[in-house]
Amino acid sequence: MSTILIIADHRDGQLSTATRKTVRCAADFDADAIDILVLAEDGAEVAAQAARLSGVRRVRYVNHPTHAHPMAATAAPQIVAAVKAGDYSHVLGSNSSFGKDVMPRVAALLGVAMVTDLMHVTGAYEFQRPTYAGNAVDTIVAPADRILVATARGASFEPAAEDGDAELEALSLDVELPTHTRFVSTDTHTSERPDLGTAPRVVTGGRGVGSEENFRVIYDFADHIGAAVGASRAAVDAGYVPNDMQVGQTGKIIAPELYICFGISGAIQHLAGIKDAGTIVAVNKDEDAPIFEIADYGLVGDLFEVIPALTRAIG
Ligand SMILES: Cc1cc2nc3c(=O)[nH]c(=O)nc-3n(C[C@H](O)[C@H](O)[C@H](O)COP(=O)(O)OP(=O)(O)OC[C@H]3O[C@@H](n4cnc5c(N)ncnc54)[C@H](O)[C@@H]3O)c2cc1C
Repeated sequence: MSTILIIADHRDGQLSTATRKTVRCAADFDADAIDILVLAEDGAEVAAQAARLSGVRRVRYVNHPTHAHPMAATAAPQIVAAVKAGDYSHVLGSNSSFGKDVMPRVAALLGVAMVTDLMHVTGAYEFQRPTYAGNAVDTIVAPADRILVATARGASFEPAAEDGDAELEALSLDVELPTHTRFVSTDTHTSERPDLGTAPRVVTGGRGVGSEENFRVIYDFADHIGAAVGASRAAVDAGYVPNDMQVGQTGKIIAPELYICFGISGAIQHLAGIKDAGTIVAVNKDEDAPIFEIADYGLVGDLFEVIPALTRAIG
């Protein structure tokens, strides 16, 4: 019997797509019940969004001032208290920054190991996950006599449908919170463009773009086709773009319907981030670049000539 608690990811009052995908992952467990826990300063609105997700039994929300700026150190003890109070067998989070931060603490406080990046669920305690930068797939069998803590790989699941009507419950937890960690400030890169993690179209640039100024051609082309913008690690390390735009093993793992990359060679660490992309289009001036081995469409050419031509052709 599996009773699953999903830890909601949300920002600015909006439930994240990553959580919708985690709910879809949970459905594959053939669970007896799927509940969602929302930790927020005032979680009623996010909880109402979560309650619409298909297959969810109950959404529990905890209002607490510490959640105005979510911190793993204070969230984890509250999650553990909710897990124990609800007698859950599984605790799932998404593989977002917050999920990757908080879920190991939850596992540690529960005294169990955790499984990261579930990409395929084959039983209540049997899963597949990528390893070696996505070049191999592990099958994991977890012990059924312990609470299972895991994160779901967003790129592997569709978002849950929104035709549900789960029960809402305000939860009050009596937990002593650690005082060794406090919120200081947030420094985020804001963008009007679609979100890189969830956009159906993504355009990226690599070291071949050459400079921060040159990256303008990548932004303009992305805006022309309504795409999110990403980059290789070499482009990030060279300072062309901020590091939250990095795609790959140590960046964002994405699964857009269309992925177009310019001046990216196709190192395995980059490919680890785009394995689940639908159609991959690569433009590179080196016909031997490894990216062409995995591209559905490849164009050998100088990106500074190809992009204006593509823009004109698209109209
Ligand atoms: C532990 C570890 C983790 C890593 N994680 C990541 C990660 O998450 N993401 C990631 O991307 N990398 C990651 N890397 C780095 C990775 O190994 C590569 O170094 C990096 O992906 C290379 O980036 P690039 O393709 O932009 O640069 P390069 O490999 O230098 O390729 C640039 C390409 O641009 C082409 N080019 C140049 N000028 C033009 C032009 N005018 N028009 C068209 N093409 C042009 C060249 O032919 C070349 O193929 C990681 C490495 C390690 C060791």
